[in-house]
Amino acid sequence: MPEGPSLVILKELAQDFVGRKILHVEGNSKIDTTRIQGHHIKSLRTWGKHFLIELSDFSIRIHLLMFGNYRINERRESPARLSLQCSDNSELNFYACSVKFIEGDLDDTYDWASDVMSDEWNPAAARKKLRALPQKLACDALLDQDIFAGVGNIIKNEVLFRIRVHPLSSIGALPEAKLRTLVDEARHYSFEFLQWKKAFVLKKHWLAHNKRICPRCNIPFKRAHLGATHRRSFYCEKCQKKYSPDS
Ligand SMILES: [Zn+2]
Repeated sequence: MPEGPSLVILKELAQDFVGRKILHVEGNSKIDTTRIQGHHIKSLRTWGKHFLIELSDFSIRIHLLMFGNYRINERRESPARLSLQCSDNSELNFYACSVKFIEGDLDDTYDWASDVMSDEWNPAAARKKLRALPQKLACDALLDQDIFAGVGNIIKNEVLFRIRVHPLSSIGALPEAKLRTLVDEARHYSFEFLQWKKAFVLKKHWLAHNKRICPRCNIPFKRAHLGATHRRSFYCEKCQKKYSPDS
C-alpha cells in the first residue's frame, strides 16, 4: 500500500499539471466524470494517503488503496479508473484506486496538522490524541490516520524497531519521553522514507520490515498480524520493550 511519502512523490511528479485544463476525461470510476471536463487544475495536494486534485469549487480525491497505481503521460494495458487528458497532450492515469469528489474548500475537510508529511504537522496535537487513547496498542496507534495520516505498515514497523518499542505496548504505559520519541520518529522516518524512495534505495534501509534477523541482537524477528488493525508486524522480543499497564 502506498504510504504518505509515496503520495508526496506523485504530487511532485505531477506538478506540471497545475494550471492545465482538463480537456477530456475517461475511466471506469462510478463518479460523474463529465463534471470534471473543462476545469483547470488549481493545485495538487496530499493528505496522508490521499492524492487531491483541486479544481474550482470541488476536488477529486484519489486513494490508491492496497494495489492502486498511476502513470503520467503513459498508459497501462488495464483500463484506467480515471484518466485526465489535459492541455499540452499530457495525461494523468490512475488504476485500481478509489475516486471521490470533495465539495468546497479542502481546508474544511482536512486537518493538515495530522499529516506527518505536512508543513503544518503538529506533534503536540498528536501527543494529545495519543494520551486520550491509553488502551490503544502502539501498532494500532501508528496506523491511525486521524493521528498519523500517511503512516502505513512499513513506517509502523520501522518506527517501532528504531525506538525499541514492542508493537503490543499500550500507549498509556509509555513514559512521556518515549511517547514523544514515537511521535517525532513517525515524522522523521517518513522523511527518510521519502529520500530513500526517491533514490530507489528504500528497501536497502529497512531494518525490521520484511526482515528475518534483528540487526541489534542477531536473533530471528517475530512476525505476526497484531492489534485491531491486524497488519503484519516484524519485531524483536529482546530489544523492543513491551510497555504494559501493569508493568
Ligand atoms: Zn533485537
